[in-house]
Amino acid sequence: MSGDLPVFDRARRQVWPGLVDLHVHLDKGHILPRCPNPSADFEGALAAVRPDREVRWTDDDIRRRMDFALRCAYAHGTVALRTHLDTAQDDPERSWRALAPVRDAWAGRIAIEASALLPISHYGDIEYGRRIADMVARHGGVLGAVVYPDADADALLDRVFALAAERGLAVDMHVDETLDPSVDAVDRVLDALERTGFAGPVTLGHLCSLSSRPACEAERSMARIADLGVAVVSLPLCNLFLQDRVPGRSPRLRGVAPILELAAHGAAVSIASDNTRDPFHAYGDLDLIEVFRAAVRLGHLDLPVAPWPAAVTSTPAAVIGAGGGRIAVGATADLILFSARRFDELIARPQADRRIVRQGREIDAAAPDFSELDDLDDRA
Ligand SMILES: [Zn+2]
Repeated sequence: MSGDLPVFDRARRQVWPGLVDLHVHLDKGHILPRCPNPSADFEGALAAVRPDREVRWTDDDIRRRMDFALRCAYAHGTVALRTHLDTAQDDPERSWRALAPVRDAWAGRIAIEASALLPISHYGDIEYGRRIADMVARHGGVLGAVVYPDADADALLDRVFALAAERGLAVDMHVDETLDPSVDAVDRVLDALERTGFAGPVTLGHLCSLSSRPACEAERSMARIADLGVAVVSLPLCNLFLQDRVPGRSPRLRGVAPILELAAHGAAVSIASDNTRDPFHAYGDLDLIEVFRAAVRLGHLDLPVAPWPAAVTSTPAAVIGAGGGRIAVGATADLILFSARRFDELIARPQADRRIVRQGREIDAAAPDFSELDDLDDRA
């Protein structure tokens, strides 16, 4: 039945479907060498990125960094991803223009979906908000926002959902990326969903303060997330890097969303990479197996671990709608072959010897060398 396709004998070894990374930032990736974040906190990251974006993010610069990051993801076994794209007021389409040919070039290897990244306050300008939503629709993207506590949050959220509904767009928001227990923007989003009756797909990322808010409040929010069918995505590596960062003091808190409780309420929980080698997260390589192994240990996802590979495969695949993320008769043979037989073996080692099969054939699974990007670092 296999025709001329190779046969892999993997008796007793783990075989996973291709990975789906629901939340990355391809346009920011790999700027860290020229754009450090001396405080390594969230405010420091915002301040560091802006001048780099305005001065250095030419089409060529963005495309080369995106292509590098995609080669990393491909080598590690990723088949689809959603990238947030900085949608900044000085040139909102900058990253979208850069991505378009990259996405075409990668079709068939990694399916790429893009989501707009801008502060919710920017939707306060009605004309500008329309312009952003039209641009996102033109690019086949997802409408997004970073929801900060804002006196006008309710009206702004209603506007975002209306813009998305008018154009048939999905929505993806960064929410509550803080351990301040008074921050509960997730509830403003859920209120707006109920008020507007928005029926399209909604994804919320981060949700760090769910881990620091009073438990009964957080439980209520999580039950609503599940009831309203909102997909959530936890970004543990980036949260570990930025959250509870205080100069000269060791971190006490993990900053990771309460993944177990969200799942217990019935929410669709994905786990994703977020930033890689940029001021928001200095490390990472778009390796979802690294993220998975860390998440299991950080989030105590091991009692039992069996449901959790879905958080980096079939669950995010269903959100993106790109297919993949499952092993089935008739499905494309996009597979990861591990030497590990059991989960304890898989989590014990980085799985650097994994073999990647795409459309039934093994690929060269080597990540590119960082030195390829040396000429993009113009600090000298
Ligand atoms: Zn993000």
